[in-house]
Amino acid sequence: MKIKYLIGVLLCASLLSSCAKISDSTYEEAEKTVFAMDTVMTLKAYGENAKTAIDSAEDEIMRLDTTLRRKNTDSEVYKINTEKSADVSDDTASLIKKALDICSSTNGAFDISIAPVMDLWGFYTKEFHVPSEQELALGLEKVDFNNITAEGNTVSVKDNTELDLGGIAKGFLSQRIMEIFRDNGIRSGIVSLGGNVQTLGEKIGGGKWKVAIQSPDDDSYLGIVNVSDMAVITSGGYQRFFEQDGMIYHHIIDPKTGYSANRGLKSVTIVSSDGTLADGLSTALFVMGLDKGTDYWKDHDGFDVIFVTDDDQIYITSGLDGIFESENNYSIITK
Ligand code: AMP
Ligand code: MG
Repeated sequence: MKIKYLIGVLLCASLLSSCAKISDSTYEEAEKTVFAMDTVMTLKAYGENAKTAIDSAEDEIMRLDTTLRRKNTDSEVYKINTEKSADVSDDTASLIKKALDICSSTNGAFDISIAPVMDLWGFYTKEFHVPSEQELALGLEKVDFNNITAEGNTVSVKDNTELDLGGIAKGFLSQRIMEIFRDNGIRSGIVSLGGNVQTLGEKIGGGKWKVAIQSPDDDSYLGIVNVSDMAVITSGGYQRFFEQDGMIYHHIIDPKTGYSANRGLKSVTIVSSDGTLADGLSTALFVMGLDKGTDYWKDHDGFDVIFVTDDDQIYITSGLDGIFESENNYSIITK
C-alpha cells in the first residue's frame, strides 16, 4: 500500500515571492515561484542574502529559458537548428558537450537529436498525433547524435539534424541555481523544477532534506530520500502523455524505434550531486529499462537510481541504502 507522505517542504509553493527576517538581523528566508521551460519552479533559500540569491536565480532561469528553448526564435538552440552551425555561449556549448557524452555513453538511449521525432508526435505544439510507420521511419533518419559536433564554442549539425535539450536542460538549470546560491553565501536551499529537486546543504536547523519520490500512479509518494547537496530527478511516462484509441503515448522516446520508450519502467529517479548528469541519465535509463540501466549504473560512478517497474516493483541501487525510506517493499541492487 502506498503511503502518502505529507512533506510540505516543496509543495506549498507561494505564488508570490516572500522574504521574512527572523531574530538574527542578517538572516533571511526567501522563496519564489517562477514559470519557465513549461514548468512551475519553486526556489527557496535561507541565510544572509537569500532574497538577492533568489532574484539572481530567477534572472538566470529566464536567461537560460531564452537561450535553450528550442522553439524560441531568440534561442541559441534555435540558431543551431536553423543555421546548422553557430557560435554559442560557454553555457550552451558546455551543456551540449555534456549531453553528447551521455548520448555516447548510453549508446544513443539518450539522443539530443530526437527533435524531429518529438515534432511528429506533437509534443511541442500539444497537437498530439500518432505518426504512421513511414513518417516515423523518415523522422528517425534524422536522429543520430553523431551528426552533432561541438568544438570550442562552435556547435554544428548535419542538414536534417535538430537539437532538443528538453531531457537535460532543467538539471543544468537546477545545478546552476545551486552555484548562484553558493556564490551569494547561501548554505541552505532547495529548488523544485516541476518535481525535479536539487538541494544545497542541509535544512536550516540541521538535518537532511527529505525529498519525496512521487508515485507514477497518483499524487501519493513512494518514499523519500534523505539528502544534502544532491539533485533528485525523475523521468516517467506519467509526466507528459496523451491517449489515443486506448493506447498511452508519452514524451520519452526510444530513439531506436521512434515510439514512446517501453522497457518495463514507470519511472526512474537519479540521485546525484550533479544535476545535469542526473537529468540526462533519468531520461536515458528510462529508455534503457531495468536490466540495461542496472548494467550502466554498475559501469559508471557518480549517481544512484530508483527504478519503478510496470509491475510496481521498486529497485534502489546500493548507495541509497539507508537514504531511501519507504513503507513499500523494495530490492537493493549491488555492484
Ligand atoms: P525528461 O523529463 O528529463 O525525461 O525529459 C523528457 C524530454 O526529453 C522530452 O520532452 C523531450 O524533449 C526529450 N527527449 C525525449 N526522448 C528523449 C531521448 N531518448 N533522449 C534525449 N531526450 C529525449
Ligand atoms: Mg531528463
